[in-house]
Amino acid sequence: MAASVTRAHLAVDKAECQGAGLCHALAPELFRLDPQGFGEAVVSDLDDPDDIEAADSVVGGCPAAAVLLTYLD
Ligand code: SF4
Repeated sequence: MAASVTRAHLAVDKAECQGAGLCHALAPELFRLDPQGFGEAVVSDLDDPDDIEAADSVVGGCPAAAVLLTYLD
């Protein structure tokens, strides 16, 4: 992740999500599990560098590549 990124959009592609729950385990402040056990973003607009870094780590950890992190600037 570029150090200059200050805003990012976070989402989960539920069509790809396998319900493994790793996102919630790794970053419960950013991800929760819906009643079916699929991941979803708690917040979608990130502007805290720590949150962006944590989300970036989860992107690489999700076994389904279902975590979508879009850098806005
Ligand atoms: S880690 Fe990935 S596959 Fe697992 S619940 Fe989260 S988004 Fe879904």
